[in-house]
Amino acid sequence: MSEMMKAIVVGRLGPPDVMEVREIPVPQPGEGEIRIEVEAVGINFADVLAVAGEYLTRTRVPYTPGMEFAGIVESLGEGVSNVQVGQRVACLGGSGALAKYAVAKAAAVIPVPGNFTGAQAAAFPVSYFTAYHGLKTLGRAQEGEWVLVQAAAGALGTASVQLAKAMGLNVIAMASTEEKLQLARDLGADVTLLQDDPDRVQKVRDAAGGKGVPLILEVVGGRRFQESLDMAAGQGRIIVIGNASREEAHLRPVELMKRNLTVTGLWLVSLMNDREATMSAAQALTTLVASGKVTPQVGPTYALNESVRAFQDLLDRKTTGKVVIEPGR
Ligand code: NDP
Repeated sequence: MSEMMKAIVVGRLGPPDVMEVREIPVPQPGEGEIRIEVEAVGINFADVLAVAGEYLTRTRVPYTPGMEFAGIVESLGEGVSNVQVGQRVACLGGSGALAKYAVAKAAAVIPVPGNFTGAQAAAFPVSYFTAYHGLKTLGRAQEGEWVLVQAAAGALGTASVQLAKAMGLNVIAMASTEEKLQLARDLGADVTLLQDDPDRVQKVRDAAGGKGVPLILEVVGGRRFQESLDMAAGQGRIIVIGNASREEAHLRPVELMKRNLTVTGLWLVSLMNDREATMSAAQALTTLVASGKVTPQVGPTYALNESVRAFQDLLDRKTTGKVVIEPGR
């Protein structure tokens, strides 16, 4: 194998066009690690924020983005016995996947259902685990309840709509275009609303029986966060998962008191340290995947040298489903 490979390198923080294709050394797997030939990398909004230096953790440069990916195990480091060369695996966490090869801890690989393509495997972990935790672990959704899913045609949004329907919830889906709302309906959303509908607060409250929505997956933030409070039912739960608007949001705790609202933060990275929550999410998701009730929605796919465009399209709200980059293309 050649010792150099093509990879995306971020040398300084900024908008997507700071990313460059460079030749870098092929990484060597250490003890307990494996090297994977990367088939597909799931691009999350978090990747865009990390490149901009706006993520929840500090981004150290230079680095190669790519935290969620799938590929074929190519070589094993010392002491690895739980995976075999030639096996398709998915990985989550860290960085470095926007390259021909990436190294991961063997203990942390996620088995891939036999019927998933590489792109589907790369589109699954972040969105589906986050959606599950938002709806169930933290959201405590009950069958028959209404849930509001924002950015419903995106990666997390499509996962949330599918999972919510599979759990027997009624879904109100919001998105910015009619085309995106159609995708949400195709996935089972019961009520769909344009994100900029001037009467959206009242329409959401009416859709959920006039009393507001008991569960909201909040991913837009900024001014929209206040609207989520207004859309919530008494004793409603608002799960704060994202801030796609990148605007400041303000919360006056007294407002929560008036209607007994609960606002809960969710960050998948820290929840992954909760072994019990992760195991029960994995078990539930495995069953749902096997039943065919949930299938990752792969959105647009790009070659490695189109990474800037992939990130920019995600940022510009042009994409639906999970944006995937295929380094081997
Ligand atoms: P998406 O595929 O959902 O893409 C982002 C979407 O956000 C856009 O398509 C757009 O949908 C919506 N959006 C709303 N307002 C804006 C805005 N002002 N600028 C840009 N986009 C906007 O991405 P992801 O699935 O990766 O992430 C969705 C959200 O969930 C993000 O906020 C992300 O940070 C968060 N997230 C958080 C996780 C956690 O652990 N806390 C894990 C996974 C995701 P539309 O055009 O329909 O409004």
